[in-house]
Amino acid sequence: MTAAAQPADDLKRLIREVPDWPKPGILFYDITTLLKNGPALHRLIDRFAERYAGHNIDLIAGIEARGFIFGPALAYRLGAGFVPVRKPKKLPSVTVSAKYSLEYGTDTLEVHQDAIQPGQSVLIVDDLIATGGTAAAAAQLVETLHGKVAGFGFVVELTFLNGRAKLPGYDIFSLMQYDK
Ligand code: AMP
Repeated sequence: MTAAAQPADDLKRLIREVPDWPKPGILFYDITTLLKNGPALHRLIDRFAERYAGHNIDLIAGIEARGFIFGPALAYRLGAGFVPVRKPKKLPSVTVSAKYSLEYGTDTLEVHQDAIQPGQSVLIVDDLIATGGTAAAAAQLVETLHGKVAGFGFVVELTFLNGRAKLPGYDIFSLMQYDK
């Protein structure tokens, strides 16, 4: 069996669940307890790399901040470049931005205008998909620059929040799912 085809329970056990953080009612999935385990981190990146082998990915777009942990490791394995998708006012050169809705109010993501060339195949990576708003904003940035969204890769998917509904028609992969 390939690493990608193995059940992810071995990795899931290493994710710490923190109730009521950062605010009451939120169950936070803390990946730091997985990250500090060398063999587990290795398996995780192997599984991602197997999933995307042969997909001709030019760039990984990692979403700040935890997409910066997994994105570059996967980019290295795929021989792809890495593009940071950042919170506002962090990037030094000319940027394009996309606004998205949060539970209360809005937030913005930015990418350098010259980060993606038209037609490049871009895989968007983050640690977790909840409602999908963050990932959808990242896709908007890629497409504003005429990149092609090759898909979305997440370590964790909160399936009960149906974030996939915000990403219709795209290839979406998650290593671990939580259904409640
Ligand atoms: P969303 O836009 O709702 O899909 O939220 C995804 C972003 O918020 C990701 O960057 C996650 O790191 C973070 N996030 C949302 N909910 C959680 C959660 N329950 N545990 C950990 N991270 C979360």
